[in-house]
Amino acid sequence: MKRASKYQVDEHGFYGRFGGSYIPEMLYPHIEELQQKYIEISESESFKKEFNKLLKDYVGRPSPLFFAERLSNKYACQIYLKREDLNHTGAHKVNNTIGQILLAKALNKKRIIAETGAGQHGVATATVCALMGLECVVYMGEKDVARQAPNVNRMRMLGARVEAVRSGSKTLKDATNEAIRDWINHPDSYYLIGSVVGPAPYPDMVARFQAVISEEIKWQLEEKIGRHHPDYVIACVGGGSNAAGAFYHFVDQEETQLIAVEAGGEGVHSGKTAATTALGTIGILHGSKSLMMQTADGQVVEPHSISAGLDYPGIGPFHAHLYDTGRAEFHAVTDQEALEAALELTKLEGIIPALETAHAFAVLKKKAFLPKDVIVINVSGRGDKDLASYIPYIQNQEHE
Ligand SMILES: *Cc1c(COP(=O)(O)O)cnc(C)c1O
Repeated sequence: MKRASKYQVDEHGFYGRFGGSYIPEMLYPHIEELQQKYIEISESESFKKEFNKLLKDYVGRPSPLFFAERLSNKYACQIYLKREDLNHTGAHKVNNTIGQILLAKALNKKRIIAETGAGQHGVATATVCALMGLECVVYMGEKDVARQAPNVNRMRMLGARVEAVRSGSKTLKDATNEAIRDWINHPDSYYLIGSVVGPAPYPDMVARFQAVISEEIKWQLEEKIGRHHPDYVIACVGGGSNAAGAFYHFVDQEETQLIAVEAGGEGVHSGKTAATTALGTIGILHGSKSLMMQTADGQVVEPHSISAGLDYPGIGPFHAHLYDTGRAEFHAVTDQEALEAALELTKLEGIIPALETAHAFAVLKKKAFLPKDVIVINVSGRGDKDLASYIPYIQNQEHE
């Protein structure tokens, strides 16, 4: 595999100092199989034909690129919204699950394993398993099962078996451990990871499936303004898959500035945060070397964010490298700032964003842009799922 870019993965699965594959020995054959075959399969004509057909007819792509006129006027710059919220299931996650389910089929796997925190990735996985008629087991911490009941119900309706994990802190990292244990015991199962995290080759594989986002942005911008690159691309980062997809075709285009937005929670130094680049140190999380929030003796620190999808104690190795090299600028946005930004977008453009997405919009208040600047903000998902967080905030506003 030739390396086309100093920001992309190398032939050993590394992005600079980050990445690699730190896994139990019993998983080597599984990972090796993927590493050997994922590019050959996903670059084959028959795969691309099927992938593109499903993205078009099932997901509803291309997703529109919308010029947000009132928001642009307010911030005196040119703001375009990439509408991943209009995808089937309401977010970008399905781009990846479609890609991986086709890969699983090509590898002749009959059973799909996934883990989920908030349940969004679990729903996207259960969706494509229903579509393909494949067995689906989703591991989820017992605490998350209780607090994300609507998504648990969706997964069950879609035919997935949801396994509540009772070990450890009963959240995402415990669910991950169980999913990996299952994979070790079932070599004919496929482990479907939901973000640009995990051992190589997952971060690169997921980024490639999400890269359709920036591929479309390029021709859509060309159509609208006669040039294919924006001055800025802004996206929120949990593990980093929607940002990786939105950045992918611009990373070597240095005149496009990349802005990644993490969840600051109640404040970077409040002890209740998910601002990985601000606080993180190098460590091994979920099978790869990256930046993560950990104690001095290497225990994972429980993250906090109002948005379930950004509530993750690390970031993927691609983003750690973009941070390390200064290629992308990282911001932390608090719960409160995200709520404010969500309400503003709703009022100005009639679009209710996911709480995760709202973090990206909050950057508009933190940074000065020029009137000629063309800014693309990735609208990673829609906000219907977050009304229980939005309503009390709106009511408080009305009483002030
Ligand atoms: C899961 C999720 C995210 C965070 O995941 P990434 O892998 O960082 O993209 C962001 N937005 C929405 C709507 C999500 O569902």
